[in-house]
Amino acid sequence: MAAPQEPPKLEAKSPPAEPQKKSREDFNFDRIIGEGSYSTVILATDKSSKKQYALKILDKRHIIKEKKVQYVSREKDVLARIDHPFFVKLYFTFQDKDNLYFGLSFAEQGELLDYLRKVGAFDENATRFYTSEIVIALEYLHGKGIIHRDLKPENILLNKDMHIQITDFGTAKIFESDEDEKASSFVGTAEYVSPELLQSKVAYKSSDLWALGCIIYQFLAGRPPFHAANEYLCFQKIIKHEYSIPDGFPDNAKDLVENLLVSDPTKRLGCDKMGGYPPLKAHYFFTDVNWDNVQNETPPTLLPYLPSTTKGEAGMHSDYNMPSSTSEQDFEDRFLQCFGLGDPSKTESKARSGTEQDILDREEKLKQQASTSTWHPFVNGELIIKTGLVDKRKGMFSKRRQLILTDAPRLYYVDPVAMVLKGEIPWSSNIKIEQKNFKIFFVHTPNRTYYLEDPTGSAKKWVETLNKSLVLYKSQNK
Ligand code: ATP
Repeated sequence: MAAPQEPPKLEAKSPPAEPQKKSREDFNFDRIIGEGSYSTVILATDKSSKKQYALKILDKRHIIKEKKVQYVSREKDVLARIDHPFFVKLYFTFQDKDNLYFGLSFAEQGELLDYLRKVGAFDENATRFYTSEIVIALEYLHGKGIIHRDLKPENILLNKDMHIQITDFGTAKIFESDEDEKASSFVGTAEYVSPELLQSKVAYKSSDLWALGCIIYQFLAGRPPFHAANEYLCFQKIIKHEYSIPDGFPDNAKDLVENLLVSDPTKRLGCDKMGGYPPLKAHYFFTDVNWDNVQNETPPTLLPYLPSTTKGEAGMHSDYNMPSSTSEQDFEDRFLQCFGLGDPSKTESKARSGTEQDILDREEKLKQQASTSTWHPFVNGELIIKTGLVDKRKGMFSKRRQLILTDAPRLYYVDPVAMVLKGEIPWSSNIKIEQKNFKIFFVHTPNRTYYLEDPTGSAKKWVETLNKSLVLYKSQNK
């Protein structure tokens, strides 16, 4: 065996100088990224290195007043212990008279929750990919003796390449030994809180695995498993272990979720007593995952996805990102023809003569609508152009709603049983209407895709009317 090499002799040197503390003046402030309850996060560029950071600025007086000093120092302590690509990284901290500053890696693509909201639910492939990243992250975190305690899609940020960067360590817990695995105070977000936190006010590493089960369910089904009108009811459901797996949920994911959402924290797949992470990673939901390479893989594209709700029927993707066969010009032509405006001479006469008569007609119609239409109270005095029942789907769940298009144009939806206005699909020039089949149509808005199903099979009629309103709206808002 070769003799071990002598380490090279080191010249006596003075200790390396402490890196110079940064200050506010070292940065250009580009834009506000977000606001938290106790902080503002700003995209800032280091003037000398030109590197960009998410600079989290915390107002000292506010933090003291709100008794959040412990929360802030916890966040700093935990971040200082973490150095892993699937977590936000703390590069430096500094302070001045008024503020504390945390220099964090910039998660350019924002929150995973925004993507989930936008597309409604993830398909199995995307669910597997993001779940495997979270599993790797949790294995690392728990290996470091840290419980996150508030894991949820909102705290999972995305870097520029769409890989995860977990954040928000204000309520995390560092434990020194297994005995110390418990923590004393209640924290967390209602829908992801584990039963042991609610019942005994203790958190284990395994409490993060419960949250993981909730997240996997939410990825696929479109909403978390324990979901109720208020926190109290949500807690009751968690304690009673009251949740159901919807039809269409893949069997392998169902088995995984059921092995994570176990009320006894010592019986959850992935916890120490169940053999730790190897059995979790070996679950058949992850069959094709190459655990050593997840970080280098290209994340799957997150497309609007419509999981099937009946067994045996494949889930459908939206064609939204595909080149559309119907151009805007086509829509415009069809619209003009529908209104007899295709011929330029007709367009001109209509434009000249229409206005006053149109106003009178509208007033007359409104009067009629007020006395005959059940939906009139919901539309702010606007004229209803089209209304009908639809099933508004989110992931694997749907709710029956009365959809009402008005001439504003605005698109309201009402709970037809409780007769309560539930919301509005935000109208803008940027919306896109897409017909999926004779029943299903999508309204794509910049922040969310609405999945609407016309039980009578007249999706085409909705799509045509919506597109006419859109063309008219665009022409009036040029
Ligand atoms: P609260 O303190 O009320 O719980 P929060 O945890 O969202 O809120 P912050 O951590 O201050 O508060 O974040 C504020 C906003 O900035 C959030 O929308 C978050 O997504 C965004 N943000 C925070 N850190 C980063 C980062 N490193 N990169 C990109 N965006 C970030």
